[in-house]
Amino acid sequence: MPEFDPNKVYTRAPYWKDVPDEKWMDWRWQLAHRLNNVDEIEKVINLTDSERKALSQTGLFRVDVTPYFASLIDSDDPNCPVRRQIIPTAAEMVPFRSEMADSLAEDKHSPVPGLVHRYPDRVLMLVTTRCASYCRYCTRSRIVGDSSQKFSRKDFDAQIEYIENTPQIRDVLLSGGDPMTLAPRILDSLLARLHAIPHLEVIRIGARVPVFLPMRVDQRFADMVAKYHPLWINIHVNHPKEITPELAIACDRLSKAGVPLGNQSVLMAGINDSVRIQRKLVHELVKIRVRPYYLYQCDMVHGAGHFRTSVSKGIEIIEGLRGHTSGFAVPTYIIDAPGGGGKVPVQPNYVVSQSPNKVVIRNFEGFITTYSEPENYDPHLIEAQEALIEPRPEPGQEGVLQLLEGKKMAIEPAGFAETRARGGAEHRLRSGEIKEKWQPLGVGAIDPNKTAVLPDGK
Ligand SMILES: *Cc1c(COP(=O)(O)O)cnc(C)c1O
Repeated sequence: MPEFDPNKVYTRAPYWKDVPDEKWMDWRWQLAHRLNNVDEIEKVINLTDSERKALSQTGLFRVDVTPYFASLIDSDDPNCPVRRQIIPTAAEMVPFRSEMADSLAEDKHSPVPGLVHRYPDRVLMLVTTRCASYCRYCTRSRIVGDSSQKFSRKDFDAQIEYIENTPQIRDVLLSGGDPMTLAPRILDSLLARLHAIPHLEVIRIGARVPVFLPMRVDQRFADMVAKYHPLWINIHVNHPKEITPELAIACDRLSKAGVPLGNQSVLMAGINDSVRIQRKLVHELVKIRVRPYYLYQCDMVHGAGHFRTSVSKGIEIIEGLRGHTSGFAVPTYIIDAPGGGGKVPVQPNYVVSQSPNKVVIRNFEGFITTYSEPENYDPHLIEAQEALIEPRPEPGQEGVLQLLEGKKMAIEPAGFAETRARGGAEHRLRSGEIKEKWQPLGVGAIDPNKTAVLPDGK
């Protein structure tokens, strides 16, 4: 395995060849020298008409690219997978059917500004609207990059107060924007305040800074986060080209500081919608000790239409990974359900059929076999042990589990009972018990010569 020298510059486009190494490796210099307009970008890459048109457009989602990340762009290839993630094209301005500003309905699930409480035991805390560079397919482009939408000290106080007063929250996920763009002191004090909340069991940071600006992950940063364990970080890499010696060094620092690392990527047309590319990506990730966590279906968000793929492509990619490579290198493919349904995992079917005592399964090669279930399995054996662990209430969010546990027979959409009842309490085919009130309408009195009309009109 190659050893990389943390003091060496591995990734730098010729345009910046005269910048002294200390400056290039200084994250503040990188942030201050981001490219954000046609004139600057044109000096580094050969723009297409489509890119130039988009960059000259007013009202475009913010553009900013760190010199480090811009150095990964193939300046002559308009289809470069790194380039397409951060340089807008005219396609970004084309609306598509079913697009939404807030596709995940996060605003609806925010008890206080910036805090999204969607799941029973964990919250998403948006701490900034800034990023080191801006992904063209950003799911939060409605707020991200907009400097008029900042989170203030007062917002942090309200977010933290909500978490303090909500003991069911055991996991806080810092996101934004990118939490790693916060001033070091502010991030440190935020983590300290969260760490001090007794019922919080884990803190997570979702950040693309290690990818856009690996120099930000200096030893001081690693030492700072190590004070707040258990602290997990998810990075965001979409293509193997993004995995550089600089990123490897940053991840090594974080791993050595005890931070478990995961990766979330977005499936995008022409960027990584290929089994071969995804395999290479996950292999390069595990080499730098980053475990692939989620592969997201691209959200139905404005500006991202041209990045969207079919869902079947995502299923095909998982088919090409599971069994074909290390199990820990296989991410979970997720559709973040539009309308605020949350993350829904989608995968190929491995269960071919079932009977009371048998499950027929198939493997990645298409080998089909039978697992015979035990005839004397007693699912009640565990109950005494289970009783030692306090159940956690999940009011309104028990889901399908409550059906399996026998707490409920069915889950009905709102208004279901009213719509289906049509005023009659009993099934009308049970003619002996037909309710008096239905007789005059003729619904209950079944005429064998007429075709029955079911309540829903079928
Ligand atoms: C993604 C997300 C989480 C975290 O989900 P995990 O599946 O636990 O990683 C929490 N809250 C919100 C609102 C999210 O979108």
